[in-house]
Formats: sequence, C-alpha cells, structure tokens
Amino acid sequence: MTCNPYKTEIDGKEVDIIACGKGKIKIDTCKICYYPAEYLCDWPTGSGKTCDIKLCKTHSGNRGDNINFCPVHFSLAKKDIITSRQLLLIKKEAR
Ligand SMILES: [Zn+2]
Ligand SMILES: [Zn+2]
Repeated sequence: MTCNPYKTEIDGKEVDIIACGKGKIKIDTCKICYYPAEYLCDWPTGSGKTCDIKLCKTHSGNRGDNINFCPVHFSLAKKDIITSRQLLLIKKEAR
C-alpha cells in the first residue's frame, strides 16, 4: 500500500487529499506544493533535455510565451540568460 499526499481545489477551497492504493500511484503533483501538476519546467539541462520538474499553475513561472519554469529556473530566466527562441529550439529538438 502506498499513500501519496497531494492538494487540490474544490469550490475554491484548498483540500488535502491522500491517495492510497497498491503499488505506486501516479498522480503528477507539483514539486513545491503538491497540487496536481499541469506543467513541466522547460529549462534546458543540456543534450536536448529539460529540467522537467512538475509544476502546478501557481508555481509555473510563465513568461507569457508558453514556456514554464520552476521557481529556481524562472529567476534565472528573468535575467534573460536564455531567450525564448533558444528554448523553443531546444524543445523542438527534444521531441
Ligand atoms: Zn505548486
Ligand atoms: Zn527547472
């Protein structure tokens, strides 16, 4: 039996949920707050791979170009070390 805690929102209220079952339960949750994750960090980590930390809507640092970052990488991205164009190229290569 495995139990995984995660959070979700029901009628605008934060609810803690623990999902238990046999084996590993696969619920993609945000690495930071355990909300169900909808995004992955797109920060390139080299050789066509990205950081891929799972992120909820709140913690996906979206720059408005459909590219999301975890909080650590978002602060780096804000410094424009890497441009959106470069990231899109990396994303294309990864697929
Ligand atoms: Zn989160
Ligand atoms: Zn990241």
